[in-house]
Amino acid sequence: MAKYIFVTGGVTSSLGKGIIAASLAKLLQARGLNVTIQKFDPYINVDPGTLNPYEHGECYVTEDGAETDLDLGHYERFLSSYTSQANNVTTGRIYQTVINKERAGDFLGKTVQVVPHITDEIKHRMMLLGQDEKFDIVITEIGGTVGDIESLPFIEAVRQLQWELPDEDVMVVHLTLIPYLKAAKELKTKPTQHSVKMLSETGVHPDILVCRTEQPLNNEIKRKIALFCNVKTDAVIEAMDADTIYEVPLLMLREKLDLICLKKMNITNYAEPNLDKWKSFLDKLKYPKSKVTVGLIGKYIELQDAYKSILESFVHAGAMNEVKVEVVNVHSEFITNENVSEKLAGLDGLLVAPGFGLRGIEGKIIAVKYAREKGLPFFGICLGMQMAVIEFARNILGLKDAHSTEMDANSSNQVISIMEEQKKIKLMGGTMRLGAYPCEIQEGSLAHQIYGTTHISERHRHRYEFNNDYLNQFQENGMIASGTNPDTDLVEIVEIPNHPFFIGVQYHPELKSSVEIPAPLFVGFIAAAKKYNEQSNIGKKKSASSIEK
Ligand code: GLN
Repeated sequence: MAKYIFVTGGVTSSLGKGIIAASLAKLLQARGLNVTIQKFDPYINVDPGTLNPYEHGECYVTEDGAETDLDLGHYERFLSSYTSQANNVTTGRIYQTVINKERAGDFLGKTVQVVPHITDEIKHRMMLLGQDEKFDIVITEIGGTVGDIESLPFIEAVRQLQWELPDEDVMVVHLTLIPYLKAAKELKTKPTQHSVKMLSETGVHPDILVCRTEQPLNNEIKRKIALFCNVKTDAVIEAMDADTIYEVPLLMLREKLDLICLKKMNITNYAEPNLDKWKSFLDKLKYPKSKVTVGLIGKYIELQDAYKSILESFVHAGAMNEVKVEVVNVHSEFITNENVSEKLAGLDGLLVAPGFGLRGIEGKIIAVKYAREKGLPFFGICLGMQMAVIEFARNILGLKDAHSTEMDANSSNQVISIMEEQKKIKLMGGTMRLGAYPCEIQEGSLAHQIYGTTHISERHRHRYEFNNDYLNQFQENGMIASGTNPDTDLVEIVEIPNHPFFIGVQYHPELKSSVEIPAPLFVGFIAAAKKYNEQSNIGKKKSASSIEK
């Protein structure tokens, strides 16, 4: 039987429950336990797949094709292990299941109610992964903030589990905020007291308080929080703001968060934490030898969460190359032929981001052209790859109206077209080509060099694909399909071999990048940017010395 740790949040949102949950999981994993993390979200969307990135940040996709909350990305990046459909559950999903059962007559004439029917379904899903013998511990993050009307059924389910299961099998970690009032020069504990009180009113009592704070908590404050919130003093954990999220596991180790959990759950067979790989990554991250600047060309750049996995992949790949990766966000909507060289000046590489719809498309195409012509390392992901194909068709193949069916269904050269199986789909939710598919890589290609193998599997989220009617024309003119799906021939990777680094992928390599296993394409792209930077520095020095002469 697995044991269950619930992570709730109080006082405000955005305290970083996901990072605390992932850090705790990392420590328990480093001590030899098998841990998974799941997220329960209180909104009514069945999954976040239909949410605009401005609403909810990036939609993260699992191996088995679930469209999930971006916190699952953190879980995978910290643990280097995969999550699945079962790891993200929303209120919408719970209600959908219960309503479908009601329609099927499964409740045998009973009145269907929030308690017990909705809470039973929540409990069932909370314990689902724990029934898999694989896991010793299941950590469940409850989205939202304690006191929200919509998270009440989830909290009630936690209360019932606390009552039903043996004491040592369930625990609750509550994340809260201890604000520092500059005027009073004091840390204030009252918001935390109120939030614990609110949680206790629902019948759930936290075992551990993790306190986000800008200032260290001295023993006196810890004792005060413990006394008024009715937890043991050593269960008041200080969570200071960190320079990087990847430092949080070590901060939590110092505060003994993992040991307190193990003690409460009566787990005795654990090892000293093995965090060697993690620490060596952190060292490289903190002490880079040089810097590269890459441009992220997208249309949601005002909201950094929209590109979370891409930004984190840059962090992983930067550490691997021992460089600091500075990301310059360039809004694709405002790139024009006239200003492109000014907007992209000083960059060592260009990543054209995934996306949907017409807005900002032409700017992306202009950016691709610039990178192609200037020999600037180029990396296109999903829509970014599709834009690279369109740019090549327009400017090299001379197909002036080349486009994607998504943007212009009347174009006479739809070099990117809707996938056959997508044509009949009417519903939006969960209907894209989602999750992991295999890809065969051509020997001797750049992709082959980067991956070091010809068989890979990567994750997807798209409806459109390279139109194979044009494949010969592309290959004859210098853009090759170096990776294809072995079953359908769908083009997964395009390259321009006579360019220093030009690669576009239909899949999302950022979804599989983790601290300990960075995504090869990101590592390769940053290596190319580093080379470009070194060469342009040599160029600059040379021209400076010729001016001096
Ligand atoms: N809009 C494109 C498609 O559906 C690309 C999707 C993406 O970038 N994730 O094919």
